[in-house]
Amino acid sequence: MGKLLVVGSVALDSVTTPFGEVVEAVGGSATFFCIAASYFTDVQLVAVVGEDFSPEHLTALQRDRVDLNGLERRPGRTFRWRGEYSYTLNEAKTLDTQLNVLETFRPTVPESYRTPSQLFLANIDPDLQLMVLDQVQRPSVVALDTMNFWIEGKIEALRKVLKEADILIINDGEAQALGNNRNLVQVSRIIRSWGPQTLIIKRGEYGVAMFHGDAVFALPAYPLEHLKDPTGAGDAFAGGFMGFLASAPALDDQSLRQAVVYGSVMASFAVQSFSVDRLASLTDEDVKERYMDFNRLITFQV
Ligand code: AMP
Repeated sequence: MGKLLVVGSVALDSVTTPFGEVVEAVGGSATFFCIAASYFTDVQLVAVVGEDFSPEHLTALQRDRVDLNGLERRPGRTFRWRGEYSYTLNEAKTLDTQLNVLETFRPTVPESYRTPSQLFLANIDPDLQLMVLDQVQRPSVVALDTMNFWIEGKIEALRKVLKEADILIINDGEAQALGNNRNLVQVSRIIRSWGPQTLIIKRGEYGVAMFHGDAVFALPAYPLEHLKDPTGAGDAFAGGFMGFLASAPALDDQSLRQAVVYGSVMASFAVQSFSVDRLASLTDEDVKERYMDFNRLITFQV
């Protein structure tokens, strides 16, 4: 049986929020995704790091259910991202993006990864997302994430990826930029006409909305009294969402809704600390408990 495969960035992030800062902490879209998904299923990672990615950095990714055979180490420096959040925690302000080893990275999918059950193309250059798609047998679910950096710089490659995708998971601002429209219902119709049948729009502290067929499912974010750093919330969401789907008996409306809740559970843990500290140290009970909290949060009598 194939496994959940992800390609994305592994990064050293420097982040400032109103609650503190970190310098060159482990991050990256694939990192948050793998850790979140590993609470549900086995994950295979395709990514690249540089020579400066130390054994201590690597420990964040060394988990029983994460296969690192596809993590390449190349001469040069690891991808770096520097961002800042104001009290409006919904939008990261990118201060600096250094692609470094990502600039010349040409992903090679190991032989043992080529028949995945599901594929997640995490936020990374859409040309690299396409290269991975070309090397694998098409799985039952292909999902992707992207960001303004690529919507502005690589729209043609991104449209090609979208054509091949079943699910797009994207921030509200980015969805509006991609669909060139402010109304999210109209945006969902426009973007879904380009390929993905399902569109999931992440709305930060306002939660998430899933457009699927004629249905819309909306969920608030978990009400947290203290949060530290929103970085990685989107990727942790995707990891919980895809990880749950990979372990679900069917790919129906019910499972998709439950997957949105598990995604939101993992995102809520990610924002409780800088880097992956909280996300990487959960128990299965922590995850289940918060899932049940969500159930109480949205249940009402009609
Ligand atoms: P999010 O889940 O949306 O908060 O994603 C945050 C992660 O995205 C950070 O850990 C960054 O390292 C990573 N990231 C930022 N910019 C890029 C980019 N242009 N390509 C790939 N990954 C990025």
